[in-house]
Amino acid sequence: MIGRMMGWSVFAPAALGFAALVGCTGSEAAAPDTVSAAPNAAAPADPETPEALETPQAIAVEQMVPAQAAPEPAPALVQNTRFSYAGELTQGGYIRGQAPDDTVQASLGEQVLDIAEDGTFFAAFDRDSAGILALSATLSSGQIIRENITVSPRDWQIERVNIARRPGGPSASFMARRRPELNAIVASRAVETGAQGWSQDFIWPVTGRISGRFGRQRIYRGEPGSYHGGIDIAPGNGVPFVSPADGVVVLARTGFSLEGGLIIIDHGQGLNSAFLHASRIVVEEGQAVTQGQHIGNVGSTGRATGPHLHWGLKWKAARLDPLLFVGPMN
Ligand SMILES: [Zn+2]
Repeated sequence: MIGRMMGWSVFAPAALGFAALVGCTGSEAAAPDTVSAAPNAAAPADPETPEALETPQAIAVEQMVPAQAAPEPAPALVQNTRFSYAGELTQGGYIRGQAPDDTVQASLGEQVLDIAEDGTFFAAFDRDSAGILALSATLSSGQIIRENITVSPRDWQIERVNIARRPGGPSASFMARRRPELNAIVASRAVETGAQGWSQDFIWPVTGRISGRFGRQRIYRGEPGSYHGGIDIAPGNGVPFVSPADGVVVLARTGFSLEGGLIIIDHGQGLNSAFLHASRIVVEEGQAVTQGQHIGNVGSTGRATGPHLHWGLKWKAARLDPLLFVGPMN
């Protein structure tokens, strides 16, 4: 695609396509591996809890063509005096773009961006992102370029249930086991690998029935539970899945109490993918992987009610909707 892209014009069609997707989430409420129906006397375990602890991340790519100053006469030196970007300007979405020339620091809201040497960048919007965020750049001259991005709200799937949340919270013995796992997850996501997958168009790691959407949340007698932090795909036990974009494996271990076999892949620029419940892992920590490369097999290890792949995408602290990176499954 060639031309000068401004965020909005590129976005409108994508937003429409997305609205159509949201419309069909209702039929998945009863998916057996995502909602354990049986309301026992005691409140059932919160099905979202396990996966809320893992955060996925995603990326999308567009060929960015810098916005250019008025195409006056001939001089070859053209300055980019503003941001250009394209992507999904909605909660759980993202943008890829080009910062103004001579940018020394840029941020989206409070979050500092990792601007590549050529001025390209990735940024994203948390599931609960505010409606308007400032995209700003400080130039080497000291000048500040700033514009607001309007992030459209999503109509998340909310289930109101007339049961209390599990009282108490995790036991001391569980947390003794859990804490090192969480530390490993946090540490792996802090690793900077220089991966470039963030700039690619993502592909589905595996195709199959979608048994749980990103953002779904239960409200227990008015008290919100944690939301589903990724997308669940149920193609069957043992089915191979692949890396949705280039990256570096920053975590690949079995036996996590909730995640089971867990793979985390860094895609660069603060974006990473997490894959849960794997029955088999065929990559090692530190290994570079390419888009489409087999990394593991679907399973039900950890806390899972049936074999499925949970794919989560995270950009820095923001949890993102993988569906916005790959589009509908064919
Ligand atoms: Zn899940």
